[in-house]
Amino acid sequence: MTTEPAGPTTVAAGLDGSLVQELESRLRGRLIRPSDDDYDQARLVWNGMVDKRPGLIARCAGVADVIAAVTFARENAVPVAVRGGGHNVAGSAVCDGGLVIDLSPMNGVRVDPRRGTVRAEAGATIGDLDHETQAFGLGVPMGVVTATGIAGLTLGGGLGWLRRRYGLSCDNLVSADVVTADGRLITADEDHNADLLWGLRGGGGNFGVVTSFEYRAHPVGPEVYVAFVVHAGSDARAALRFYRDWAAGAPDEVSSFAILWHAPRIDEIPAEHHGTPILVYLAAHCGETARAQQELKPLREFGSPIADLSEVMPYLGLQQFFDADYPAHEMRYYWKSHFLVGLPDEAISALVDLNERSPSPHSTLDIWQLGGEYSRPGPSDTAFGDRSAPFLFGIESNWQRPEDDEAALDWARAVFGQLQPFSTGGQYLNFPGAYEDHDNAVRGTFGANLDRLVELKRRYDPSNLFRLNANIRPD
Ligand code: FAD
Repeated sequence: MTTEPAGPTTVAAGLDGSLVQELESRLRGRLIRPSDDDYDQARLVWNGMVDKRPGLIARCAGVADVIAAVTFARENAVPVAVRGGGHNVAGSAVCDGGLVIDLSPMNGVRVDPRRGTVRAEAGATIGDLDHETQAFGLGVPMGVVTATGIAGLTLGGGLGWLRRRYGLSCDNLVSADVVTADGRLITADEDHNADLLWGLRGGGGNFGVVTSFEYRAHPVGPEVYVAFVVHAGSDARAALRFYRDWAAGAPDEVSSFAILWHAPRIDEIPAEHHGTPILVYLAAHCGETARAQQELKPLREFGSPIADLSEVMPYLGLQQFFDADYPAHEMRYYWKSHFLVGLPDEAISALVDLNERSPSPHSTLDIWQLGGEYSRPGPSDTAFGDRSAPFLFGIESNWQRPEDDEAALDWARAVFGQLQPFSTGGQYLNFPGAYEDHDNAVRGTFGANLDRLVELKRRYDPSNLFRLNANIRPD
């Protein structure tokens, strides 16, 4: 998140210009330099906090370009950032002075409705994938904002509206094409390089550049039922306690959140609550509508909500539900998380207090309901690790002005510290803050899988070429 001073940016000290020209001649896509008119546009990522100045941006048009870019970086010891959808909150899709391997032009998606699978290139977004799969009444578990890249999301896990019915995005990964640090293209599936497939299921971008992902797709939509209920802040403690107990018995078709927030100025919420603390239940049910309405009824009947916006909506509408809340470039973001051992009353009290002290009305504290299919794989079945936590707690510090940076970061870090006693010790590495205290986060999260991940890293990337990520160091 550091802001480097503007000025000449070199790829790496002493690098000969002819080597850069040679890289350019090997690409079907474009090589963007700091002197190009669209350089400033090309280096932007989603988080407005991030202002990094790469030496070169290789806009890859296909696998051959990725091989050329990886080979160039390795042979010339150039730092590498890999960009899928550019949505990592720490801005790891760009780097200062190195090479960005930008996969965004590679966004083809091919559905095989007969086999129930879909192959997507690594620059595709969730929206690209949804558009193609819904044409066949199918969906792949992904995240809840459609501009997010499938690549970073899948490699770090991938939690969305289908998590309790069909698991993580990475659980549905059946095969991946990967360019490894030595510039080879290999396929990882259950029959070939199965160890690598295991590592890609949650181990992040440590082992190479994935050029395409093949997923299992599932029948979903075209409509789903969503319970969307808003409680006043004064009722938040009781409403969270009810939610905790209800969530423990909910069917797998339901994936839900409880969100502490400040009421937006919308007509559906009474004006006297605008800008005040609120608690929102948001629960999607991917089963048949009449059953969904029945099974989500308790969430609507509890207490005295100030608004109930529950409705049947298109699955694509659900996928886009949060899109407008997370504009790219213009807002500043810092997100961290804890997997929680539970949600005891002390944790609930702390959360309600912390929401009341939030310095920005855009920030939220999110309780993600886990369990269901998400929780069935054992801790060593995928690199992702332990799935026993009943909730993921997401801290979203979201604000607008650079002069508010300190207050926004201080608040988020205070929340993280206060909820630490309720943590399993693991964090969701797709919400990595600014990668501070990184080794502890990696150790706490991967736990007993770390030794196997280090072994894989030594095999596929012994020089740690791919290190701008939740890094598993080969040493
Ligand atoms: P990028 O910034 O492009 O990449 C992130 C990192 O992934 C890179 O630094 C690199 O290490 C690695 N990487 C990317 N592409 C490749 C590749 N092809 N090969 C190898 N490594 C690669 N997560 C959820 O689970 N559920 C959600 O609902 C959710 N919602 C989100 C909403 C928003 C608005 C945002 C900003 C993030 C959300 N996330 C969510 C977190 C998201 O999973 C991560 O930010 C993820 O990194 C995004 O992937 P990306 O490809 O867009 O990121």
